[in-house]
Amino acid sequence: MSLGATQFVSGRSTRAVIDLDAIAGNMRAFRDGVSPATRIMAVVKANGYGHGATMIARTAIANGANELAVATVDEGVRLRQAGITAPLLVLGPISCGEIAAALDADLMLSVADGDLIDLLAAEAGRTTSEPAKVHLKIDTGMHRYGAAISEATAVAKKIVSHSSLHLCGVFSHFACADETDERPTRQQVGVFNDAVREMQQAGIDTGCLHVANSAATMRGRDYDFDMVRIGIALYGIAPSAEIRLWQGMKQAMTVRSRIHRLIALQPGDRVSYGGTYEALKHEMAALIPIGYADGYHRSLSNRAWMEIGSTRAPVRGRVCMDQTVVGLHNGARVNQGDEVIVVGDGSNNAPTLAQLADMAGTIPYELATSVSARVPRHFLQNGHVVAIEDLFGLRPIER
Ligand SMILES: *Cc1c(COP(=O)(O)O)cnc(C)c1O
Repeated sequence: MSLGATQFVSGRSTRAVIDLDAIAGNMRAFRDGVSPATRIMAVVKANGYGHGATMIARTAIANGANELAVATVDEGVRLRQAGITAPLLVLGPISCGEIAAALDADLMLSVADGDLIDLLAAEAGRTTSEPAKVHLKIDTGMHRYGAAISEATAVAKKIVSHSSLHLCGVFSHFACADETDERPTRQQVGVFNDAVREMQQAGIDTGCLHVANSAATMRGRDYDFDMVRIGIALYGIAPSAEIRLWQGMKQAMTVRSRIHRLIALQPGDRVSYGGTYEALKHEMAALIPIGYADGYHRSLSNRAWMEIGSTRAPVRGRVCMDQTVVGLHNGARVNQGDEVIVVGDGSNNAPTLAQLADMAGTIPYELATSVSARVPRHFLQNGHVVAIEDLFGLRPIER
């Protein structure tokens, strides 16, 4: 990856570099890995897992994704405003206050309970000429969102009884697909199959059936049904330590910054809030303009490291809201403005998202989605920054 290109585009030193070629390659790996008849839904909720939903959505669609998914209506509306026209499913539960906006943006909605279905049908009947598109979410064992199995057929009947609604599909979500023990996942599929059979025996056209997330899709072809929903692995992040990425898949995000200033520490000097790091000798340190408000978790204090000039620079003292201090090797030849890799992709000495997640006591999903809106996203294609998204919006970069 060429850093020269990122070096000369203006803006904040701290930025997330998003390799769109990695996203494209990961999507094509799924396109090649599942049957051509299987639809692929690219999950771009939470701002594309922190990567920037609009650019990820475009790249996913251009490389084989058939549909998109988000978690909230607002996320879907934003993608529509950005010109994304692909079928777009809101996975999460919605409130009745979101119905009008969802219909206006032609979003597909996940529904599970009768009252919301009636409200949605009434609103769709009043305001749209086309029926509103819904997917019935059923709870097959995760006990989070979804219609209870005992009520699933009744809820499906309610949907098809409304002429202003169209049942596009029936789906469920796995609780343990990323764990070694596959039995809970197989059990959920069994429950799903029984529920679908019951609906079909009641004469209901169940449409597109889908259950698989990244982990289930990567396990093999047992869970594909009509569509797979690919989230974390699209970004080149393994769903868990148990599930390996497929050959050639690559983490798309790195987080980079630059040294803001060098700090000479004397023996006994303490660093950052609470003085939790004490220099025992003459040491050099560097100030990096990234903090927990950027998504660099405070739990990484005195624990993580960054890469500066191919070597590890350990975090010294507490991570602050906007700044972090790292230690430098004695005699390190570094300067103000030097490139710092805060989050690596495995191709260098910086910690990967998975390693940082371990250090922070969390999962890479949480770390990626915590990269906050004030961190500019630099989108890279063929080693060049082609677009930047920051607090002021998304704009292409002319070369
Ligand atoms: C987030 C989500 C996915 C994607 O899961 P990954 O583990 O990121 O692949 C799929 N389905 C539903 C319902 C989700 O909420």
